[in-house]
Amino acid sequence: MNPVIDPWDQPSLTVVGQAQRFPVNRVFCVGRNYAEHAREMGYDPAREAPFFFMKPADAILEQGKDFPYPRQTQNLHHEIELVVALGKGGDDIPQAQALDHVYGYAVGLDMTRRDLQGEMKKAGRPWECGKAFDASGPCGPITPASKSGHPTQGAIWLKVNGESRQASDISQLTWSVPEIIAHLSALFTLKPGDLIFTGTPEGVGPVAKGDKMTGGVDGLGDIAFRVV
Ligand code: MN
Repeated sequence: MNPVIDPWDQPSLTVVGQAQRFPVNRVFCVGRNYAEHAREMGYDPAREAPFFFMKPADAILEQGKDFPYPRQTQNLHHEIELVVALGKGGDDIPQAQALDHVYGYAVGLDMTRRDLQGEMKKAGRPWECGKAFDASGPCGPITPASKSGHPTQGAIWLKVNGESRQASDISQLTWSVPEIIAHLSALFTLKPGDLIFTGTPEGVGPVAKGDKMTGGVDGLGDIAFRVV
């Protein structure tokens, strides 16, 4: 391509134990995928089909950078999530083969302008203003599945200034990673480089400038982001 405007860098993430980076294609997110979080948001956690929203790839904010408090909100919430990184794409991927498409896993934050999301929900409008703003996807390095295996249980946690806010276990996911990949690939042709934020457990809440968010998922390391 001979571009008519200056091209931008491919969004990417570091990979644990490797010099090469993981190029980020698209960012899918699962809504309400832990029953206790569905309840705290005022919903019945009966197993409804999973639903999805997206963030732009360049909303990914790499570990080591500060998280810039976004504009136009008075209620910015943290959501700690297990992130799946796809190494292979596909359509209508059966659950039994879904994990063959996973390159690795990471720990991410689905940062949310909860006040704007609430207004959008009430008006029946799309969620982008609440969910897809700049830097809304802080994310740690990717651990290859060849190292971590495919985790199905283990603590997922988030602290703000050292105080526990979210503490659950990824075994509490309503829809498992293979189920998510099967559903999502029935709606979209999945591609290498796609990330899937798999939803947050209960305990979401606000952060302010100056706060330090730390979090992790067992076996995938910890993340830390300062809100500036
Ligand atoms: Mn979320």
